[in-house]
Amino acid sequence: MSIIIGFPRIGEHRELKKALESYWSKQSTQSELQNTALELRTKHWGYQKDLDCVSVNDFSLYDNMLDLAYALGAIPERFRQYKGLELYFGMARGLKDSVACEMTKWFNTNYHYVVPELSKTDTYKIDASKIESEYAQAKSLGFKPKINLIGLFTFAALSKITDNASFEEIFAKLQVAYFELLDTLKKLDTQPLIQFEEPIFCKGKDERFYGKIKDVYNQIAAKGFKTIVTTYFEHSTEATEILCQTNIDGLGLDFVYGEKNFSSLNTIAKSGKTLYAGLIDGRNIWVADLSKKLETLEKIAQTLPKDKIIPSTSCSLLHTPFSKDSEVKMDKEILSWLSFAREKIDELKLLEAAFKGKLNAAEQQKWEENIATNANRKTSDKINDKATQDRFKQPLKTQRDSTFKERIKLQHKTLGYPILPTTTIGSFPQTPELRALRLRFKKGEIDTNTYEKGIQDYIKDCVAFQEEVGLDVLVHGEPERNDMVEYFGEQLKGFVFSQNGWVQSYGSRCVKPPIIFGDVSRPKPMTLKWITYAQSLTSKILKGMLTGPVTILNWSFVRDDLPRSEVCKQIALGISDEIDDLQKAGIHVIQVDEAAFKEGYPLRQENIKDYEKWALCCFKISTSLAASTTQIHTHMCYSEFNDIIKTIEDMDADVISIETARSGNELLKIFAKVGYSNEVGPGVYDIHSPRVPSKEEIKAQIKRLLEVLPKEQLWINPDCGLKTRKWEEVKPSLKNLVEATKEIRG
Ligand code: GLN
Ligand code: ZN
Repeated sequence: MSIIIGFPRIGEHRELKKALESYWSKQSTQSELQNTALELRTKHWGYQKDLDCVSVNDFSLYDNMLDLAYALGAIPERFRQYKGLELYFGMARGLKDSVACEMTKWFNTNYHYVVPELSKTDTYKIDASKIESEYAQAKSLGFKPKINLIGLFTFAALSKITDNASFEEIFAKLQVAYFELLDTLKKLDTQPLIQFEEPIFCKGKDERFYGKIKDVYNQIAAKGFKTIVTTYFEHSTEATEILCQTNIDGLGLDFVYGEKNFSSLNTIAKSGKTLYAGLIDGRNIWVADLSKKLETLEKIAQTLPKDKIIPSTSCSLLHTPFSKDSEVKMDKEILSWLSFAREKIDELKLLEAAFKGKLNAAEQQKWEENIATNANRKTSDKINDKATQDRFKQPLKTQRDSTFKERIKLQHKTLGYPILPTTTIGSFPQTPELRALRLRFKKGEIDTNTYEKGIQDYIKDCVAFQEEVGLDVLVHGEPERNDMVEYFGEQLKGFVFSQNGWVQSYGSRCVKPPIIFGDVSRPKPMTLKWITYAQSLTSKILKGMLTGPVTILNWSFVRDDLPRSEVCKQIALGISDEIDDLQKAGIHVIQVDEAAFKEGYPLRQENIKDYEKWALCCFKISTSLAASTTQIHTHMCYSEFNDIIKTIEDMDADVISIETARSGNELLKIFAKVGYSNEVGPGVYDIHSPRVPSKEEIKAQIKRLLEVLPKEQLWINPDCGLKTRKWEEVKPSLKNLVEATKEIRG
């Protein structure tokens, strides 16, 4: 038999997104929303019918962490007056005066969960109705259900404690509520199967709770469930040791991203537990090499009895798109290398059949096709680009020609910008007209001339506005970009884009990550035309805008036949080619955005150094070609830099802009503390809100910044790009920003 850990819930055609958004805008009723949800679940269970069981409670109207908080009655005080879906969506999205709970990344994926808020004053009250009804639905349709539930430890560790309560104290209360929830679920069946998801165990030992694992899971097992504890995204060897001493029935481990899990096999064998072997990659989109997977299973079977080994996905399929069926435009050869959620279920079944040693004729044929596909993918010319590979035979430049001190002197002389220079992060409002223009061009409804004229008009207005308002360093406004990664991916060789490869990012929001299938290179300039056009309109300094290699990598599906670090280096070379073209064309300030630099950090402490090393190296490959007189900026969408300040320093950007507007200047102190000497633009107002900051407010913020950093080091800018704002908001905000700066200078 085989299992998956969960199926994507957004729907083949993003039905859930549409149903949610229609419900939120009051175009449909709660029962219409619930009907869509049921239809989706029913359809998704159908695909799982030949597996050991179907996943129940992997579905969510918004997020599973939120579901569990709701089921436990862990409701922040400000929401306690609400009920039902109003309360549920309120916690996710905010309600009148009650601000939404925070959202943050689910481990190192691009999925975001709603962060539960826990406090001493919580009075938990169980509501198991969601799980109960989904379970009943699955059963009534004739499926064998498996409940997926976020484990107590993962839930507790990822929650935020909002008062002075200790983890210990909160955990004790939470445990009581969690057990009560389980007691309710116990009534669902004679021996319900629950798969507890505990990815937190993959982060290694956590003193706050490691001592409790054994007792908690023994108590849970004693309740009479069939109990599986599953971890994913890394190895969880420390927790596995403990779990093997409990009475749970099975363990789910990730053998795709957790190589070291192999070292736990002996312990598992001795414990007599069933192993759910996560072999089909739940986070990437490549066809599995089934022969290799089978070898892995056989290898595991040297230690464990065969009937104790159940093939599984490495994690929930939530992180992959629905199915390849709608990809009609993609290159057929490349498409044959891909496997989305539905296809992965087929791979799993095939793998299981092969493991049992009984492939029927049809399966045998599919097996051979899989072998052929994998062979083709390795040797295809589409993947290998000799010119790119050859560039790596020579040493790559990873250092600028001079030190920051030398460069900045030159730059001040040649660029001649004032003290407290004002600038923006790059994008300006993406108006409906602009989106329509790009869409019409994409659909072939307008010709290149009309399109380019439209973009140029936007740039012209944008530059004129910036001159008029009196900014010091101007930008072209990024009107040609739909997305900061997609725009570059579309022009780099080695990338493809799906038509329907949506993956849930949070709530109803989905992203369609680019797919990096082969060697990356930049056939021709990507931004030169627009940026030099903007420069031709002004005698002021114009800042060219690029997305950095690490961010492009972290927001894409990356080929798995080359280390990520190597793929990133190839992207970095492409970006460095662009920088070279820009500086040769007279652009002397260039920003390389690394919005997602921090997102690629490994889960395990012991792997961080290595990531930092190559990610840093890639950033430097992309920027080291810049002449000493070319000023390199970078931008990061974070405010918290304590843990990565060393790496930030080593990036050696001349100027870094960051997102401190919302968090005050406390977090900025780290820059002063480590003696960071390069220039910094900490963001003087929050662009995430439509509010126009007053001149006085901005002045006050600049004064606060000056308490931490010397005036020679500071830049004045908003805290992120302005693309989501409206011109009516941007114009007065920037006017206030410039005036505030001028008054402070005075
Ligand atoms: N230059 C990009 C912009 O201004 C940066 C976006 C980001 O940091 N997410 O939109
Ligand atoms: Zn940003």
